[in-house]
Amino acid sequence: MLNKLKIKLFNFGSRNKILKNLYKKMMWGDRIHINFTPTFVCNFNCPYCIVNQVQYYKKYKKEHGGKEWLNVFDKYFDKPLLISMSSAGEPFLWKGMKEFLLNISNLHYVQLSSNMSWDIDEFIDALKSCRANFTLKGSYHPYGIDIDIFIEKLKRLQNEGLKIMAGIVAYPPKLSEIPEIVERFKREKIPFGVESYINPNSKYTKEQNEIIRKYIKNRPPDIMEFDQNPSLKTCKAGQFYIFLISNGDVYTCAAGFYYVTSPLHKKFRAKKEEFYMGNVFDGTFKVKEKDIICKYPCSEYCDLEHAQVKFSNKVIS
Ligand code: SF4
Ligand code: SF4
Repeated sequence: MLNKLKIKLFNFGSRNKILKNLYKKMMWGDRIHINFTPTFVCNFNCPYCIVNQVQYYKKYKKEHGGKEWLNVFDKYFDKPLLISMSSAGEPFLWKGMKEFLLNISNLHYVQLSSNMSWDIDEFIDALKSCRANFTLKGSYHPYGIDIDIFIEKLKRLQNEGLKIMAGIVAYPPKLSEIPEIVERFKREKIPFGVESYINPNSKYTKEQNEIIRKYIKNRPPDIMEFDQNPSLKTCKAGQFYIFLISNGDVYTCAAGFYYVTSPLHKKFRAKKEEFYMGNVFDGTFKVKEKDIICKYPCSEYCDLEHAQVKFSNKVIS
């Protein structure tokens, strides 16, 4: 019953700020949020994938085990955590996933986002045994998986009693298919969301914006500020929210990681020290004590959800 209420709130909440905050409070309380990428490896080759275009999997080859990461979390944080793993790098290809699921404490909350390419039989026991509260979001990537197979896998997990939802990135060449896809998930009774395609070197046309505005109420895609003068912001990234990658490097936020490391974002000329916070394995990581004042576009949904970003009217020229 409570889970159904939470999923309803999630759906309403994505359109209404008050309900969204209520949903977040109910789900996560005052947890520290770790946006966690344990692997950059993916078995799909989506044409819109920044992770693949930059080939992060070549740069960050070394991975750590599930228990090793849980020890790191215990060492640095004495509060319950919200740990989210997104499909930028496929988390179920990470070799430590089962160990992680089987050993994580029930104090923590886990959000998994996956391309659903993996064998359900291989992971179902670990997912059902996981003591932490978790949701699994199937990220539907039409260039990598057939929609029927994708839905069949999610329905199987749903029938096993797991909390599932799904979503799609509104990649411009696929926009015309989105209304049908949204209807299909509605019929299947799988909560479904549409996210805008974020790429600093491409933007939606006016017509495309109008189409996806019907599906993305909470974050209109034309305020990404990539091609306009960004506004000045303050945020709590680095205090209650961090972006942590497979080699133990910590950045304040996902956007900051891209600004520092991605050639696609190099026109913003960010300096590493603006976003880099040290490494959890060599002991150089320290939590920030003050709010950040940021002059860059705040472009990633995950950051906006959790870093408590406040936009000011002051525009950086
Ligand atoms: S599934 Fe995600 S990580 Fe994999 S190629 Fe597609 S967008 Fe990239
Ligand atoms: S405002 Fe956004 S991009 Fe800037 S530091 Fe905060 S979370 Fe990162």
